[in-house]
Amino acid sequence: MTRIIVITSGKGGVGKTTVSANLAMALAKIGRQVALVDADFGLRNLDLLLGLENRIVYTAIEVLTRECRLEQALVKDKRHPNLVLLPAAQNRTKDAITPDQMKLLVNALAQKYQYVIIDSPAGIENGFKNAIAPAKEALIVSTPEISSVRDADRVVGLLEAQGIRRTHLIINRIRPAMVKANDMISVEDVQELLAIPLIGVIPDDERVIVSTNRGEPLVLAEKDNASLAAIAFEHIARRLEGEAIEFMDLNAPADSIFDRLRKLLWTKIV
Ligand code: ADP
Ligand code: MG
Repeated sequence: MTRIIVITSGKGGVGKTTVSANLAMALAKIGRQVALVDADFGLRNLDLLLGLENRIVYTAIEVLTRECRLEQALVKDKRHPNLVLLPAAQNRTKDAITPDQMKLLVNALAQKYQYVIIDSPAGIENGFKNAIAPAKEALIVSTPEISSVRDADRVVGLLEAQGIRRTHLIINRIRPAMVKANDMISVEDVQELLAIPLIGVIPDDERVIVSTNRGEPLVLAEKDNASLAAIAFEHIARRLEGEAIEFMDLNAPADSIFDRLRKLLWTKIV
């Protein structure tokens, strides 16, 4: 059974595309066959995050107008060939495609891939409707800000109306120090407000921005210099796969020697 997952939020700029790229890459890294669908027509940037922008020849539009076959439009990732991207057209409006056409494309991909991840545009208009039409489950991305949480809440209702009930929450750009100082809503608060199960918490990390500019998803970094954000993405991939992984303690100092020592001693005692 192929997992067809839409990454959505309501609000723009909260990290949908970042999550889509890193999650898809993390799933590819653990050996899954993954197709990424850029449903953000007009404002596509998934290709940039993956560093694949120069390899695009055709887009979803040419597949639909039968100017090319689906396989011809798919861009293979240079690092993980089991990850492919179906690019969106850049110079078309969000009305260039219908929900039924989106279903057609995604269902064709579902024949060959184990995961189809759909990166949704901002808003709840046509582009959003296209993105959710073929989805069987949803990951809702919210930052710990009131406006983002409120938009996410609206999206939960719209997804339910569409029959998508398997929905999980990703809280992005959390800053533990700010939460501690009562300057940011906590993970628990967001969770309570939205009342959907949590699948990941991603810290705010400037390396996310660096990786975006380089076109190299964070999860590609070697294990030794992996960032907490990269680990958070990998954990989401494994939780999707059904593994029970504890949530990281983001309050712990990342590199405290005492912390490591305590862990070391603890594992020895146990
Ligand atoms: P969306 O697709 O929801 O519009 P993006 O994924 O494009 O959002 O992210 C918007 C901006 O926020 C980008 O510049 C991205 O690099 C930045 N960003 C996303 N997640 C994080 C994070 N965890 N830490 C720091 N910056 C982030
Ligand atoms: Mg985006």
